Amino acid sequence: MTEKNNIWFDPSFCLIGGSWQASASGETLPLINPSNGNELCRIARGGAKDIDAAVRAAEAALDSGWGQMPALERGRILCRIGQLVLERVDELAALEAMDVGKPLTQARADAVALARYCEFYGGAADKVHGETIPYLDGYTVYTLREPHGVTGHIVPWNYPMQIIGRSVGAALAMGNACVLKPAEEACLTALAFAQLALDAGLPDGALNVVPGLGAEAGAALTAHPGVHHISFTGSVATGALVQQAAGKNVVPVTLELGGKSPQLVFDDADLDAALPFLVNAGIQNAGQTCSASSRILVQRGVYEEVKTRMSAAYAELTVGPAPEDLRLGPLISARQKEIVEGFLAKGSDLTVAAQGIIVDGAPEDGAYVRPTLFADVPADHALAREEIFGPVQVMIPFDTEEEAVEIANSTDYGLVASVWSSDGARQMRLAKKLRAGQVFLNNYGAGGGVELPFGGVGKSGHGREKGFEALYGFSQLKTVAAYHG
Ligand code: NAD
Repeated sequence: MTEKNNIWFDPSFCLIGGSWQASASGETLPLINPSNGNELCRIARGGAKDIDAAVRAAEAALDSGWGQMPALERGRILCRIGQLVLERVDELAALEAMDVGKPLTQARADAVALARYCEFYGGAADKVHGETIPYLDGYTVYTLREPHGVTGHIVPWNYPMQIIGRSVGAALAMGNACVLKPAEEACLTALAFAQLALDAGLPDGALNVVPGLGAEAGAALTAHPGVHHISFTGSVATGALVQQAAGKNVVPVTLELGGKSPQLVFDDADLDAALPFLVNAGIQNAGQTCSASSRILVQRGVYEEVKTRMSAAYAELTVGPAPEDLRLGPLISARQKEIVEGFLAKGSDLTVAAQGIIVDGAPEDGAYVRPTLFADVPADHALAREEIFGPVQVMIPFDTEEEAVEIANSTDYGLVASVWSSDGARQMRLAKKLRAGQVFLNNYGAGGGVELPFGGVGKSGHGREKGFEALYGFSQLKTVAAYHG
């Protein structure tokens, strides 16, 4: 390691069948600290052989102790993992801050959320029941919820801990054995989590972690005939490839993809309540959030006031190295910075209402961009339609409720939407009309919502994670019909 931290696992290894080992090729990849562009450490460059070994290890776990373990015991192990995560929250936050560039407070919130997912799914493991179905005379019919078997989990770099918690946590609760492929840009907390899981008594092979490139380890996992379900979180383009690969093996997939989520602010909204959400939902994690609110639709009567107040908030935003714990850290990589700067260039015909500042002394090789608020943006402009995945928000004025709904529903995405209005009837109408997997009324994000089903429509993906709903996704239903006369 070029930068010392409390690393209690070897970041250059894969975890397969309970043992830490180098990739079969012996090759490694650099892991870059986006706050300064320096190499943090090397990670394993896992490939097809490692994925195959991980799938075999998961199969072996299903055939032995893990496969036979009662739900109650699985739940207890998950709760113990959650406890160990809580005990090491600060260390996990430090790792994530280094690796992802997240300000420490945000990284800490992710670690706490990871613990919460383990507790939630640990507690839920023995509460997923089948049902009895009244049927013909002489029959007793009931259903059983069974695990898929080996589940593949492909995770992006923006919220590694939260996404691992919601997908691996739910899959383990239902008795699946997991193969996790973290993102090549950020995988330290995935490896740390796996070590904590072993420490908590998770049987060997129930969770395997193979870091590596998407086109190598990721593609090998999605194509592997021994995998029975794939949970993918990432870009639309990769999601389509994952679905195609899974289709060849006739395997179900959950796709959590991108978004262009709107907040609709009406003339009768409580602006004091709305303002912090309008800004924070766009700049949290430097805008690299699938559910980021990148479109702010404002009714004409309060448009100027919202613009003035959001602009004032933007002028206060500071960007700097993750350990400084400012409102924004760097983007994940120089490549992501280039992408976001490309979008800012596409907006050169637009009005910049306000920008935040990059603090003095921020390393030149860090991936910093200034958060930028564009005003009076036409709803069909590229910046109002395409996912930017950076700290950029556009303000779009509207006159009527119908127009607001039309604009809100006009992109390919449909992940999250929110309505700010004191009119209860309007809230109910729009909750139905907005095309999104989650609609928030007079709030945005509901504080993370481990318990709340989450997922998209359209190009935001399909399937639901989080809440109890995820447990249905990570299991399948068997119907048993007994004839006894
Ligand atoms: P990405 O699709 O490039 O990578 C995501 C993961 O897929 C990584 O682990 C990567 O290694 C892997 N991968 C890449 N190519 C692969 C292939 N051919 N086969 C299998 N796996 C492959 O996405 P990204 O740039 O890392 O993340 C940004 C995108 O993710 C954004 O579009 C964002 O909206 C989306 N995202 C969505 C959610 C959600 O819950 N809906 C959450 C986070 C991120």
